[in-house]
Amino acid sequence: MPSQFKGVINQLNKIGQLINVASDQLEILRKPDRVIEISLPIVMDNGLIKVFTGYRVQYCNIRGPYKGGIRFHPAVSLDEVKTLAFWMTIKCAVADIPYGGAKGGIAVDVKKLSRAELERLTRAYARGFADFIGPERDIPAPDVYTTPQIMAWLMDEYGHIKGENTPAVVTGKPLEVGGSQGRDTATSLGGFYIMEQVLAKLKMPKKRVSLAVQGFGNVGMNFAVIAHAAGYKVVAVSDSRGGIYDPNGLNIEGVLSHKQTTGSVINYNGLKNITNEKLLELPVTILAPAALENVINEKNAGRIKAEIILELANGPTAPEAEEKLHKNGVLIVPDVLTNAGGVIVSYFEWVQNLRHYYWELDRVESSLEKQLTNAFKKVWQTMEKQNNRDMRGAAYIVAVDRIARALKVRGI
Ligand code: NAD
Repeated sequence: MPSQFKGVINQLNKIGQLINVASDQLEILRKPDRVIEISLPIVMDNGLIKVFTGYRVQYCNIRGPYKGGIRFHPAVSLDEVKTLAFWMTIKCAVADIPYGGAKGGIAVDVKKLSRAELERLTRAYARGFADFIGPERDIPAPDVYTTPQIMAWLMDEYGHIKGENTPAVVTGKPLEVGGSQGRDTATSLGGFYIMEQVLAKLKMPKKRVSLAVQGFGNVGMNFAVIAHAAGYKVVAVSDSRGGIYDPNGLNIEGVLSHKQTTGSVINYNGLKNITNEKLLELPVTILAPAALENVINEKNAGRIKAEIILELANGPTAPEAEEKLHKNGVLIVPDVLTNAGGVIVSYFEWVQNLRHYYWELDRVESSLEKQLTNAFKKVWQTMEKQNNRDMRGAAYIVAVDRIARALKVRGI
């Protein structure tokens, strides 16, 4: 398989040529600061020992402590974690929050673990990385197949090791142990704010918009619920087992309770099921991928009919697909902006933990909107200056410029 990390660094190099950043400064962003791979032996419920592999990549901490989620998925690899850690560095700079970038993961199929095995594995991860993480050092958070419960176990294990109650060591925790109001829906709400700003710029009225959402987990499901409640027509949704499509619009509340009872969105209310591949090629205004990387790639890019790709997932559009999509006039609203709501509210959670003072939901949501609106304006203005429709390029320019300035004043 070609290296995903190489692909994104090539993208960075291309953008580097457009902006006034010295090559040696860019060099700092071409490699992670630290890469850690550990073995995680745990005793399974049947008494046998199984050894999993855990990763943490600390990419850059020039603008603040390392920050990034932990992914539990069978496809997790060092190459993927490096890529995700790079994107976190860019994202935190685009969002203008005082963090660097990191990411972690375990190659595991959580659906095959019991709850007790999952807890043991999570605690083993916390023990393995306890000397590398910390509130001023590196702050993990949830990602694919990692939940607030998993964050609570991480925090608890870390607290036992350090002999201190340290809620600020992870974000995305349950409210009972220092989580923030609004964290569970923050990524989706942020994506929704960004979508509305884009539509306003394009002067596209709500009634003309149809939406297809791939992935019905934390991000995709909450996004579909928020968009539907705001009066947008969501015509298709999917999860790992497949999708459903109704050109007249889905009743998202109904789909949600169907998913809660059956475990999937498929076979809903007599509708025809569609595959995840077909969902991506539907004739919709906005396609919102909210599952995994590279789902829009060289093979299917020419068949994408959406006018806008709203990247709720990290890296859903492969770099090789991007040029073709631009040529076909598709506007790609990049992940580093669209899904930054999650890390922004994680930042608010960390601030609340450090202050031991907790905010109400209104304050969280209005602060999120303000932070993202500023980020959006900066990216959009930068794109206009470049005189193109490359929003990812513009977001990278904003981020690299901010990191380079911090680097300059710190003098490394
Ligand atoms: P999740 O585990 O809650 O949900 C993932 C969803 O994707 C599930 O509905 C699953 O069924 C579906 N899925 C899995 N494999 C699939 C496949 N092959 N085809 C279609 N769907 C598939 O994860 P999440 O937290 O919602 O994360 C989704 C994406 O959003 C990831 O790219 C993640 O990195 C990104 N993201 C998440 C957050 C956050 O706060 N959770 C923040 C920023 C970015």
